[in-house]
Amino acid sequence: MMDLYQIPVREVHGIGPQKAEDLSALGITSAGGLLDYYPFRYEDYRLRDLAAVKDGEKITVQGTLYGEPVLNMYGRTKSRLSCKVVVDRFLISAIWFNRHFLKDKLRPGEEIVLTGKWDARRLQISVSESEFPGRGAGRSGTLQPVYSVGGGITQNWMRKTIAQALTQYGAMVQEILPSELIDKHGLLPRRQAMAVIHQPADLQEGQIARKRMVYEELFFFQLKMQAYRALNRKRADGVAHQVDLPLVRKFVRTLPFRLTDSQLKVLAEILEDLQQPHCMNRLLQGDVGSGKTVVAASALFAAVKAGCQGAFMVPTEILAEQHKRSLEKLFEPWGIQVALLTGSLTDRQRRDVLASLEMGLTDIVIGTHALIQEDVYFRRLGLVVTDEQHRFGVNQRSILRRKGMNPDVLSMTATPIPRTLAITAFGDLDVSTLKELPKGRIPIKTYAVGHSMLERILRFIGKEVQAGRQAYLICPLIEESEKLDVQNAIDLHAQLSHYFPQMRVGLLHGRMAAAEKDEVMQGFGSNQVQVLVSTTVIEVGVDVPNATVMVIYDADRFGLSQLHQLRGRVGRGGHQSYCILIADPKSEVGKERLRAMTETSDGFEIARRDLELRGPGDFFGTKQSGVPEFRVADLAADFETVEEARDDAADLVARQEFWTGSAYAPLRQFLQREGIFSEDRLD
Ligand code: ADP
Ligand code: MG
Repeated sequence: MMDLYQIPVREVHGIGPQKAEDLSALGITSAGGLLDYYPFRYEDYRLRDLAAVKDGEKITVQGTLYGEPVLNMYGRTKSRLSCKVVVDRFLISAIWFNRHFLKDKLRPGEEIVLTGKWDARRLQISVSESEFPGRGAGRSGTLQPVYSVGGGITQNWMRKTIAQALTQYGAMVQEILPSELIDKHGLLPRRQAMAVIHQPADLQEGQIARKRMVYEELFFFQLKMQAYRALNRKRADGVAHQVDLPLVRKFVRTLPFRLTDSQLKVLAEILEDLQQPHCMNRLLQGDVGSGKTVVAASALFAAVKAGCQGAFMVPTEILAEQHKRSLEKLFEPWGIQVALLTGSLTDRQRRDVLASLEMGLTDIVIGTHALIQEDVYFRRLGLVVTDEQHRFGVNQRSILRRKGMNPDVLSMTATPIPRTLAITAFGDLDVSTLKELPKGRIPIKTYAVGHSMLERILRFIGKEVQAGRQAYLICPLIEESEKLDVQNAIDLHAQLSHYFPQMRVGLLHGRMAAAEKDEVMQGFGSNQVQVLVSTTVIEVGVDVPNATVMVIYDADRFGLSQLHQLRGRVGRGGHQSYCILIADPKSEVGKERLRAMTETSDGFEIARRDLELRGPGDFFGTKQSGVPEFRVADLAADFETVEEARDDAADLVARQEFWTGSAYAPLRQFLQREGIFSEDRLD
């Protein structure tokens, strides 16, 4: 049988060269592609009984034109055309605005179908579309699909053309899901679903067809991910580290605290992976403050002691400096050399670092993304850790592979990701989760307050500082703006320096030089600076356990996950901490977000609500996040199907039959086409 995706779209009757071009701008080039262009909703043109229609509803009714139409012109183009119509036992008025040319077409006694908004008081319909059933087939009496159209393509043309494609090719649509999955989930066969999704008899039928297509889309996506994961695990092209477990245990015992059960479990999973000959590709998920850094440090320790080098990638220079300091402290007694590679090194410093990396004198290098992209060479790179993985769009594994390196990769993320998104964006990764916070943490108290509380907040900060603690104050802007009436860091810093003469108030923002930033952070880290006024440059990762107050100005301007991250800068030590969100209490903006913040401090719950409020496309704030755009599936609404599809795909690829059985040949061909079996799929 012919493959519908091989049939050029021009073979569909009614599509000429121009339309073919317009379609290709929508990504449609084949007959199969056209059929796969599903509607995103349906317009209801089914005839209604007027007696049951509520005022203001959009309806379609059929009736008989009664009497002559009346036209009023206002100027050259504005007009109002009205005509009486008998619908059942009602005599109603139909009104058309700016459609004066219709006047001559309205013949008394003829049947007409009207779609528009119903005004129950005046017994009047404001017509948006009308047609004459006596003059050829129309859309009345049906649900009509609504497609995403544009360019040279209109809604009507698209409806007609897809209907034509169904007539020509509908019978050739073939099943592509394994029958056991169709049975398991009670899905419509593909051919039937294809016809129904474009032309359902009612909304329920449309839903059933949609469900089938959603499952199919998610299943094929997951099949790719899971097949890739399975193949990667079979490949033996990574580093099988000779991990000295007793030594790692000794290292862990020298840490200033006992690891939580969660940390120990996750570390064991990582160490197990390190010893395997395949490349580790693992995501470490854990809420802010759950202690991901020491887990990463212990893994790096293991890799270095097994004779490799490690790289630690972070999204900001502030974080790079911080990690450098804390790792140096941990590794010093073990003779492990740590270096920093950031954009603000001098040429000379940079050359030195690169040379010592290449010669293998440096064991661990910490830096920003540039770390693995530029002309950086390692003697034996064995483990790459990425902190705040969601901040990195590009997949670093493909970059490393291109450089001929195949290290194990541990990606860490502090933004707890709703399961649905994690499964989708990181479906080809193994996931470890830190489920608990270190013991002894006291829950942060969170308040949402108005600006009238400012004076009290400042007095409160004064008291905390007197007790030896520290405070952050976060502003949305660096400096005053004419457009936005929100707090800025430079002004607030000046005000507070004046208000707290006995304290040192620091200022931190993205436009400062790296050295300046580092000086301020070091000052804050050692409590020489007690109050830090900052923009969101400290949003992720910054760790100063002695800080107990986080004040966020104009909190309604920040996203929910961002607020949670900022709050996570406090509550990291043994002291009661506070998060104070300042926003106009009367403002509706951000109200849901502030409520969520005061109601819960569980990062996963925050993430779930954030997904609900923002939708998946926006969740990571970047299009490159690895969350693909689906045609029918909606990650927020179809979350159950996401999990089903993932489990089904994982089960399937785990079966030997899948890789050899003839029943699965079409699925394997699909994977082949998707390039799963080639090395550089991740590019
Ligand atoms: P995150 O997961 O947000 O990156 P960090 O790794 O920065 O968290 O850890 C947060 C704080 O908790 C740090 O000050 C760290 O030293 C401390 N910490 C980590 N693990 C433990 C533990 N098991 N017990 C006590 N404190 C811990
Ligand atoms: Mg961190």
